[in-house]
Order: sequence, then structure tokens, then C-alpha cells
Amino acid sequence: MKDFGLDIWADDNFVIHNDTVNINHASKPSLLQITQDIRNKGYKGPLLLRFPHLIEKQISTLFNTFEKAKQEFNYSGSFHAVFPLKVNQFPNFITSLMDVSSAYNYGLEAGSKAELIIAMTKTPLGAPITVNGFKDKEMISLCFIAVKMGHNLTITIEGLGELETIIQVNREFNTTASTPMTPKIGVRIRLHSSGIGIWAKSGGYSSKFGLTSTELLEAYEMLKKNNLLGHLWMIHFHIGSQMGEIAPLKKALREAGNIYAELKKRGADALGAINIGGGLAVEYSQHEGKTERNYSLQEFANDVVYLMQEIARSKGVDEPDIFTESGRYIAASHSVLIAPVLELFSQEYNEKGLRLKDTNPPLIEELHDLYKSISRKHAREYLHDALDHMESLLTLFDLGYIDLEDRSNTEILVNLIIKKSIALLKSEDTDELKKLQDRIQEKYLVNFSAFQSLPDFWGLAQQFPIMPLDRLDTKPSNPASIWDITCDSDGEIGFNRELPLYLHDIDVSKEEYFLAFFLTGAYQEVLGMKHNLFTHPTEAVIHFDTEGKYYVEHLIEAQNLMDVLDDLDYDTNIIDKTLKYRIEASTHITQEEKRELLGKLYLYLSENSYLKTIQAHNTNNTNKDNT
Ligand SMILES: *Cc1c(COP(=O)(O)O)cnc(C)c1O
Repeated sequence: MKDFGLDIWADDNFVIHNDTVNINHASKPSLLQITQDIRNKGYKGPLLLRFPHLIEKQISTLFNTFEKAKQEFNYSGSFHAVFPLKVNQFPNFITSLMDVSSAYNYGLEAGSKAELIIAMTKTPLGAPITVNGFKDKEMISLCFIAVKMGHNLTITIEGLGELETIIQVNREFNTTASTPMTPKIGVRIRLHSSGIGIWAKSGGYSSKFGLTSTELLEAYEMLKKNNLLGHLWMIHFHIGSQMGEIAPLKKALREAGNIYAELKKRGADALGAINIGGGLAVEYSQHEGKTERNYSLQEFANDVVYLMQEIARSKGVDEPDIFTESGRYIAASHSVLIAPVLELFSQEYNEKGLRLKDTNPPLIEELHDLYKSISRKHAREYLHDALDHMESLLTLFDLGYIDLEDRSNTEILVNLIIKKSIALLKSEDTDELKKLQDRIQEKYLVNFSAFQSLPDFWGLAQQFPIMPLDRLDTKPSNPASIWDITCDSDGEIGFNRELPLYLHDIDVSKEEYFLAFFLTGAYQEVLGMKHNLFTHPTEAVIHFDTEGKYYVEHLIEAQNLMDVLDDLDYDTNIIDKTLKYRIEASTHITQEEKRELLGKLYLYLSENSYLKTIQAHNTNNTNKDNT
């Protein structure tokens, strides 16, 4: 994996400059510099950095690519897009999103009442709002209120019961109104075709959403009977997220396009838009030959425009306006999670740890000789000898012939020999060597929670690109697995022979080492769990001024301990009083000590739950604050 697969996943957003990974924009600062900058202000633990210029890039690319496709095919319908709030509702993200998209009349999609309130507040009047998902009478009423405010809102019918409620609410809101105002109406269709991959369930006949053709005909009649047919203007579908291949989309487009044309011919004159949902994939892979997407955005846009045009022409109806609700594509690249490495868990396997005696068991002497004299020429032979000796020595230990120090020396020497022979033989990528890497992998303990910050890794085995912030001029040599700080064995990104990650050999007691997790901007934040009560990390927005200088803005620190408990509905007053009382009532400490303990306690309570300092186990070194 060259340069951590930057040329595969980074889309020119990041570049390696000397030995650091830098933002490929404006003054091109390194992520390390920004990280240090924020840490110097006193914020420790994991950091989530947001880059509005990357949101802008995705939005303008989406609009420009569709514009190009429209021109190429001389397409007469217009192109619109909304951002599906479920992908990221965090205010620092949404505020940036609305700021950078003002030139595009970009809107929001809501799937719940709370999301609808965000959409009603954050969408500029006139920009589209689409409302999907299951709705009750209150949610439908909120849609009518939004329209009365002047919003351009489309409510998607997901089922016939919902349509009945819409008809009822329409009566309540408009019978006595001076100017009757009704939201635009869309229908979600249940497609025969479905997506592929781990998110494929949103399409197809067994999908949770959408009307079958029989229901569609019935909806048509109901709308007509209630004088609402003039509001039916959008056909909607969504075939699932992270669509790796283009073929299922094409099938869905043909199906949806024909439904559009059929309804129009039947008399749905106001029908004028097709909403293709989301599903545009993001390339998360950092390994050649393991890519997740087989099409470009231009191919995607061309297919949509071409197929809609072809169907409209052959059925003799107008070319529909095209709406997309791509979320992952817009949001994923905008944020980077940066977390400090706290500790490496195989440092006992270094030469310093050896406790060789004046006379050692002969096999250990031999291991020592092998280690000292191993060379390229004999590497494989020596390696096999070492593995063989280890088996014998472990048996000798079980039988009581060698002691614990001998056993420790065996483990260290064999590990050192494996490491050395892998380095010597690295041009030969044999299976045996790959298997041995599993054995010598280093565990990097990293100050973050995978449950909080990469929930799709935990739940769906989704990979995210990972790389260190610096030392990029040195080839990393340690096969690495990553441990988060939760007490849960699922919080591990294990070393994977198929998707290997190598990191640098570092001494955390002397030097800092940060890992960056990329493409975390879609879905990860709100899906993140407070497992072990680790909360959303400290976040910041990175802006650039016209001279290219960067600014750290809107810093929000991770919640402190009391706020975390308050969120769980603990009475923090009682917690506070109890802690205080227990110190004051303690009989074995002096008044002086009590004051000191209370001071410390309150300091800790005001901090977040990520680790502050950790005792590096290399005790002869002064401890550097690596959190
Ligand atoms: C989730 C969802 C989207 C967004 O999908 P992405 O794959 O993130 O682009 C769009 N529309 C609907 C209806 C959705 O449910």
C-alpha cells in the first residue's frame, strides 16, 4: 500500500508534503500543524476536524456534473438536489453546508419531525425541502405549516394510510383559509429492482417503503377524487446507500421513468419531477484491487439524464426535472478524526527487554546467535530454525526445565528474528511471511472510541482510510492493529492480511504519533454510540481566508463527565453532593487533605471522558503527555 492509498481514496483533497499529510487547498497546512494548534489551546483527546471547502467541492461537483450531462444531451428538465439530514444533522456541519451551497438553491430532506424542524429553520425560502419516511398527522401538519411559511416543500407519500391523513389535514388547514396552500406531493414507488451491497435493503419488493403499482393506481384515484391531483408532481425512489455498481441504478431508472410516463399519460398533468434518492458511493478503500465503486459521477449523471430523456421521448411526455438526495457523497469527505496513539503493546519485544544470564539454556544461546548473525541469504533458514527452537523451548518450560526469564528471552528473540527476517525478505511476498506478520503485529492503543466515531466499522465492517499524520518519508514497518480505549474487544481494528495496515515503530514515551481516520463525515456521528460513556469528540471547523490562511472556528469540546451523566438522566446534583459528602465524612483524612481531594475531584469532573495521560510503561523515560 503506497502512501496509505492516498491516490485511491483522497480525491486530491489531501497530499503528502515532505513527511506530513497536508490539506490540498489554500496554504496547504498539514493536519499535524492544525492538530498541534488546537491541542496547544488545551484540547486533548480525539479531534474531529470539519472542512467546509470539501463540502463545497462535493456540492459544486454534483451540480456541475449534472449540468454538463444536461448540456450534452440537450435535456430540458432542470436539476435540483437536497441533503438528507439523516446522514449528518450536527449544527457545525449543517451550518457550513447551507453557507457553502447558497449559489445552488440547495435544500434539505427530512425523515422525522426533529429533522423537519431543522429543515424548516435552515433551508432558505424557495429552496426545496423533501419529507420522506413514515409520518403521523402531526408531522403532516408541520409540512402544511412550513408551506404556509413560504417553504417549497414536497411531502412524499409512503403508503395509502398516509395519503388519507394528508387529505384530512388538507381539509383542516385549507377549508377556511384565505389562501389555501398545500405542499407539493410526491409518491415513493416500490421498485422491482434493488441495490446491492450491505445497504441494499432500501429497494426491491421487500423494501420497507413505497407503493406497489396497484397502490399507485389507487393513490391516483384518491388524489383525483379529493382535488389534489394538481399537487402530485414527484416520483421518488431510493435504492440504498453506497451503491458500488451502476447497473441496479439503471434498472431502477427505467422502472421509475416508465411509472412517471404512465401516470402522466393517465392524467397526472402536474407531474414533473423524478427524485432518484441517494446511493452515490464513496471510495473508502485504501488498497488497490479492493475498490468499492465501479463508476464515475459523470457516468452516473449521464445515465440518469440519458435514460430519463429516452423514456420521455418514447412515451411522448415532457422530460422530468431531476432531484437527487445524495448524502454520503456530499458529507463523507468533509471530516477527519484525529486521535493520539497512547501506547504500543509489543514493546516488551525489544532488545532492551532481554534478561540473558551468564549461562543460558543452549537453545536460547542459539536463538541469540541466529538473531545476531541473520542475513538476507540465510533469513528463511534462520527463521525456520527460530520457530522450531521456540516450540522446543515452550515445551521445556511446560515441563519445568527452564524458568520464566528463559521463556521471556525466547519470546523476545523469536519476535526479533521474525521482524528482522520479514524486513530482509520483504521483496518476497509469500504466504508464510504474511502469516508471520499476524504474529508480530503491534497493537496501537489509540485515544478514541470506535463505537462513538466509526460505528459502521463496528456494525457493518465498513473500512475507513487510516494513516499517520507524519513520518511519511519513512516506510512504516509494523503490521498494526488498532485498539480503542473502550473496555470492549469489538473496539479493535485488527490487522488484516488482505487489507494490511503498517504503522511506524515509535516510542510514545518520547514522541507523539497521531492517526487520522478519513471519510468519517457521513452517518458516523449520529450513529455513534456512547458505549462506556465515551461521547462525541471535540470538534472544530477549519476555514480558510482569502489569503489562504486557516482559522480554527466553532470549537466544541467533548462533553464533561457530569454532562454525560446528566444525559443519562442521573441527578447530577445528588451525584455532586454524594461525592462531596463522602470526602467530608471520611474519618481517615485530614481537613487539609480533604480540601486537596475536593479540588482534584472537581477538576476531573470538569473534563471529558477521554484519556488525559497514560503511564508509558518504559519507566526510565520522562513521560510525555501523549493524549
Ligand atoms: C438515506 C437516504 C438518502 C441518502 O442516501 P446516501 O446513500 O447517503 O446518498 C437519500 N434518500 C433517502 C430517501 C434516504 O433514505
